[in-house]
Amino acid sequence: MTDQFFAQAADAPSALPDPSGETVYLGFSHAPLFSLGPGQRIGVWFKGCPLGCPGCVSPELRTALAEDRTEVSALAREILESARALGSSRVTVSGGEPFYQPEALEKLLRLLREGGIKDILVYTGRKFHCLSKAYPWLFELVSALVDGPFEESRPTDAIWKGSAGQKFYLVDSALKEDYQPWLYGSERRVQVVPCAEGLRVLGIPKIGDYGGLFH
Ligand code: SF4
Repeated sequence: MTDQFFAQAADAPSALPDPSGETVYLGFSHAPLFSLGPGQRIGVWFKGCPLGCPGCVSPELRTALAEDRTEVSALAREILESARALGSSRVTVSGGEPFYQPEALEKLLRLLREGGIKDILVYTGRKFHCLSKAYPWLFELVSALVDGPFEESRPTDAIWKGSAGQKFYLVDSALKEDYQPWLYGSERRVQVVPCAEGLRVLGIPKIGDYGGLFH
């Protein structure tokens, strides 16, 4: 079912989420990812986001199209294989807006947990307090979450977020020592990786630096 929040916020016309959670509109996945969260990780980017933050750094991930649909179980298998190959049990989910497809997100995270993934970091443009009420499974499946929309007019020196208003929530306190060095680090990392369209930037460039990445 389409979340009422997104029905009101609708901006970019996207295909509707699959209410069964069996399929997901997927942008891409990548491993190793070392620019969004502590350690070496597997990254997965959902497609579809109606939020419309001015200056969005992932505009190509905002519109979900029918051809972006992927089986969640196949995606989970692929991520678990990458995790085994990498010797990692850490995953980052971003987008787009992962909670635009809550059923698929829940199913994917359950399969990843069952497969032995211990650390799941989710980036969302929505607020933690709203999400935790609407999706209580978050406390069981998500280890850490960065919330809030990107605001182009509010730069930040924090390396783990794009703009000052975003907040970090550690859901699994057992991971405190893993997350602290990253949260208080000063080295902002981005990865530039090849893709079918040319090059893709993974991570969070500082506001104003994005245009210089390819110069
Ligand atoms: S929530 Fe993220 S993907 Fe969606 S418009 Fe904002 S910055 Fe872009």
